[in-house]
Amino acid sequence: MAVTRTFSIIKPDATRRNLTGAVTKMLEDAGLRVVASKRIHMTREQAEGFYAVHKERSFFGELVDFMISGPVVVQVLEGEDAVKRNRDVMGATNPADADEGTIRKTYAESIEANSVHGSDSDENAKTEIEFFFAEDEIVG
Ligand code: ADP
Ligand code: MG
Repeated sequence: MAVTRTFSIIKPDATRRNLTGAVTKMLEDAGLRVVASKRIHMTREQAEGFYAVHKERSFFGELVDFMISGPVVVQVLEGEDAVKRNRDVMGATNPADADEGTIRKTYAESIEANSVHGSDSDENAKTEIEFFFAEDEIVG
């Protein structure tokens, strides 16, 4: 299996509860390596741009408000089959449906405040990484 990269966000509900380290430990324990990381407070424009694929969905406005409600930690993760590996440890979007031992089952507050974002394909991972990081900020 090839070593690939994915993009992760530790969302405002998790940073508010001081869970940056706990969430990152679960990512690392799942075989992912943090090769870039920064704590930022997204602007509304950044959040709207990042989630543009969801702009027709009913919850778009609330999602943007939530994502700018506090700081987030954006990360590039590297590992074998990184996109799937990250999605597996994240768990289902709705924590009520997430498997035991996943980040969302362990920490998410709700379907919206679900603690983490993870890219859903290699193609989207590349786009999302480039949205937040310059190549020289990623050190594998
Ligand atoms: P995922 O983050 O698991 O890839 P989606 O891409 O479908 O899920 O949705 C993006 C984000 O939008 C979710 O992580 C969650 O924060 C929010 N979201 C998804 N569905 C809902 C919903 N029904 N109500 C409120 N927020 C939602
Ligand atoms: Mg998604």
